[in-house]
This record gives sequence, structure tokens and C-alpha cells, in this order.
Amino acid sequence: MGKFDDIVVGSGIGGMTLALLLAETGRSVLLVEKSRAIGGSMLRFYRDGVPFDTGFHFTGGFVGQSLLRDMLQLVGIDEMIRPVFVGGSKGSSRILIESHDREFDLPTGCAAAADALKGYFPGEHGAIDAYFATAQRVCDRTAGMSLRQPAAFPVLLPEDQISLDEGLGRLTSDAALKAVLSIYAMTYGTRPSEISFANHCRVAQGMHESVARVENGGDAFVRAFRTRAQGLPIELKRATTIVECADVQNRTVGRFVLSDGEEVAADHCTFTIHPYDILKTLPREHIKKAFVNRVTDFEPTIGMFAVYGVLDSPEPVSPSEAFGPSILSLLPTPDVDAMFDPHREGDQALVVMRSIETAGSRSHRVVNVLEISFTEHIRQWLHCRAGERDESYLEYKERHVERIKERLFAVYPEYRGSYRVVKAASPLTFREFLNSPDGSAYGVKQKIGQHSLFGRLPFRNLFAAGQSAMLPGVIGSMAASVVVGRGIIGNDAYVRLLGERLGI
Ligand SMILES: Cc1cc2nc3c(=O)[nH]c(=O)nc-3n(C[C@H](O)[C@H](O)[C@H](O)COP(=O)(O)OP(=O)(O)OC[C@H]3O[C@@H](n4cnc5c(N)ncnc54)[C@H](O)[C@@H]3O)c2cc1C
Repeated sequence: MGKFDDIVVGSGIGGMTLALLLAETGRSVLLVEKSRAIGGSMLRFYRDGVPFDTGFHFTGGFVGQSLLRDMLQLVGIDEMIRPVFVGGSKGSSRILIESHDREFDLPTGCAAAADALKGYFPGEHGAIDAYFATAQRVCDRTAGMSLRQPAAFPVLLPEDQISLDEGLGRLTSDAALKAVLSIYAMTYGTRPSEISFANHCRVAQGMHESVARVENGGDAFVRAFRTRAQGLPIELKRATTIVECADVQNRTVGRFVLSDGEEVAADHCTFTIHPYDILKTLPREHIKKAFVNRVTDFEPTIGMFAVYGVLDSPEPVSPSEAFGPSILSLLPTPDVDAMFDPHREGDQALVVMRSIETAGSRSHRVVNVLEISFTEHIRQWLHCRAGERDESYLEYKERHVERIKERLFAVYPEYRGSYRVVKAASPLTFREFLNSPDGSAYGVKQKIGQHSLFGRLPFRNLFAAGQSAMLPGVIGSMAASVVVGRGIIGNDAYVRLLGERLGI
């Protein structure tokens, strides 16, 4: 039987980060990935030589000495990840509230965003200042948001105990202002009435500060991982999963049975996969019903219906061409909570992302659109795998693509003759591509007062990380891996690595 110090299950950004962190301190790691390719949501796909992003389009956190930069440095891949900042004076993000026919451009930087909002909402200066001051205070007081502070036990802030909805309700009654300040709920997929005000701030503040794409998209992270992993004691098993956690004694799993028939032992095993799938892997006879109920009560975040397209151009496209505000959010109504209701009728909120993508010697104007979607919309095909779905599924997809295109052309009429859709993906597509049980975009909801699956499981040597642990997104999933990895390697090794890599 093979023996490793650690097993890491899932090779998305969470699994890759954890595998590197563990291996950097000399631990032997087995990285187990169910798909044939590693990278999970970070993977791109190509059509006619044009690259398209699947689950990573942009992120905050590239300005100054940020958590993201520090984490990249900690695992030794920062020099391989090059941000491409979007926006600037024209704004990185535009929000259109269709029902009110109102449009807001949010420039980069919290101060600039606050000033712009004060122009749009002249009677709300106090609310806007209070929102940004609160968001900054929450981030400053959250120990996990800096690797540079000594480890501190997480403190529950007052903003952890109220919902975003309630927090904003205390500041303003202006529905449009609330919508604009809630817009980054789209990047974690939980309703404003369900997420804590603090967790919203932890995600949104970085996005207000700066928004960046990454050169070569999520593929850059996968390539950086591969490069860095060379020479480190990481063994990768693709198209493999753990089918059984066996020989449990003293709440410790002694043997891991893999789907390829191999059996291995390990001191620790960390799952960076969906909590429902973690539960499926645990030996049921050793877990309490309360734990099972807790996990099965978790609810999926929103899913996405994605339309991937390119603007055909007879002329060569310059890689440095300006493309206007890169992120456009279309909200049918200012009620973001209602937008996250799977039973709501009518158009859904959508996000249009425009970028110049270069592959080889050619650049392309890529326009991808993500529309909020739910399994409720695709219930009739939930039990069919790809290739088994009937015509009605294709018709549903075609209808959606046409409606999304019409909404896109309403904003950018000049695209009507040149926009070419290359692929459409429903939550079912994401379910299969990401091996996720529900096709949700961000794993399970981080609901206020809910105890997510993070850190040690009810077994001494099993742990949970990944996007459902702390917060989703590249930063959230990496941060969960750093916290879990730190616990595994121990404080001394962690502090030594921090010193070597970050000079602190
Ligand atoms: C459409 C969409 C758009 C998004 N846009 C952004 C964005 O712009 N910016 C951003 O920061 N975030 C974005 N996200 C969210 C972000 O992609 C995720 O939060 C993050 O990448 C999750 O990383 P992860 O490693 O936790 O999980 P994943 O990337 O899902 O990786 C999990 C891996 O585990 C594997 N796996 C699953 N089950 C098993 C098993 N039983 N055994 C072995 N392996 C298994 C999967 O195949 C996968 O490779 C988006 C997500 C989606 C779906």
C-alpha cells in the first residue's frame, strides 16, 4: 500500500494551492482529481483558436500587499500570474437597472467608487461613506484576510451577525443604491437576506478596490501549478477519486481506496470538493445523524447559464485595444434578493464580460455573458447525462441564447451583425464539467449563522477546504487552503515559509 503524508482531493485552485503549500514543506502529497484534466473551474477552453474562460473571469485583490498576492507568493507562483487591470477612469463595472432605466459606472478604487456613487445619489452621502467605512473596518479586523498579521482566533464582528440586507437597510432606503452596493453578490451567489454583511464586505471590498483579469485566464494558474510542482513531492492521479475511507480506528481513517483499485495510507486527507460529495465519501457508520443533516441542509448557490461569443472582425484586433467598461451587470429590477429567487418569473440578472484575448499571434474581442440560473430551471433534464438529453433541452438552450443576445444587443446595438456565439453552457454543463453534484456556480451558500464545512471533519485526519468552506472565488478557495494547510504543517513550518517567501 502506497503511503503519503497528505492526500488532497480535487485539483481546482483550492486543491492546487493546498498541494503546493504542503509539498513546499517537504510533505509527500497525492493529488486526486476526478476529471482527466486538472484545474477545475480555472480551466479555459478554445474554439477556433479563441480562448474562453469557464469559472474564472476576473478578481479583486491584486492591488498592493493583498491577501491574493501574498498567497501566490507563499506557494511560489506569484511571478507566473500577471494581472491585467480593467477599467480605470471609464469605470471597471457598469450596472444597468432595466426597470428604472438607470445606469451607474463604478470606477476603480473605493474612494473613486464612493465619489461616483455620491454623484448618482446626492442625498445619500452619509450612507455611502458609512458603507465603505464599514467594509474597510470589517476587512481590517478579519484575521484571515492577511497573512502578515500574527494568527488570531477569528473574532465574530457585529457585521457577521446581521445580513447584508439588514446592514444596508440601516444605511439607506434607496432601492437602487442598495442594488449597486449589493452587486457583487453575483460573485458569491447568496441572497443579500442570507449572507452576512461582513462576508459580503470581505468579497466586495477587494472588487471595489480593483478588478483584474489574468493574462491567459485561469490557465495561467494551472500552468504555474505544473511548473512549481516539478521537483516537489506531488503525485497526481487524474480520472481518479476516493471510493472508500476504510479501517477507521480512534476516529482516524487508516486506508483510502481509490477508484482505480489502488489503496493508500496518509496522515491527512483534505477534500476541496462539494460538501455533498465529501459526505458521500465518509464512512456513514462513523458519523452522527446531526452531521449528515447539517450537510444535507446546505443549499446550493446560484448557478450560471453562460453564453460564450466573439465579435468577428475583418481587421486584425490590437492586443492593447481599449474595450470600455469590462463588466456590465444587467438587473431587471433593483431587488437583488428577488433576483436570487429560483421561482421568480421573467428575465434574470446577467453579467456581460468583454475582453481582448490573445492566443498565438492573434487577438480577439471576446464577449461572454453569464445569466443567473437555477436547477429549478432545468429540473426536467436533471437526471440525464450529456448526450442523453432530448430536443427539448436544446430548444431551451437556444431560447435562452436568443433572449440573452437580444438583451446584449439592446445595450450594444453595434454588435448585432458581428457577435458570434460559439458555445452555451447551462448549470447542467457546469455540473458535468466541474463534477459538482448540483451545477451551482459557487458550491453551497454561506448563510448567516450557518456552520460551513471547513477544517477538521468528524475524523482526526480528514479536513474540508474548497470554495464552500470560507467564501467562494479564487481568493476564498485559496484562503481556505492556506488556513487548513497551516494547521497541517504546523505553525513553525508555516512561519518559516512565510519568512522565506514573504520576508516576514
Ligand atoms: C460560471 C462561473 C464563473 C465564475 N467566475 C468567477 C470569477 O470571475 N472570479 C472568481 O474568483 N471566481 C469565479 N467563479 C468561482 C470560482 O471559479 C470558484 O469559486 C473557485 O474556482 C473554486 O475552486 P475550488 O478549487 O474550490 O473548486 P473547483 O474549481 O470546483 O475544483 C474542484 C475540483 O475537484 C474535482 N472533483 C470533484 N469531485 C471530486 C471527487 N469526488 N474526487 C476527485 N476530484 C473531484 C473537480 O473535477 C474539480 O477539478 C466562477 C464560477 C463559475 C461556475
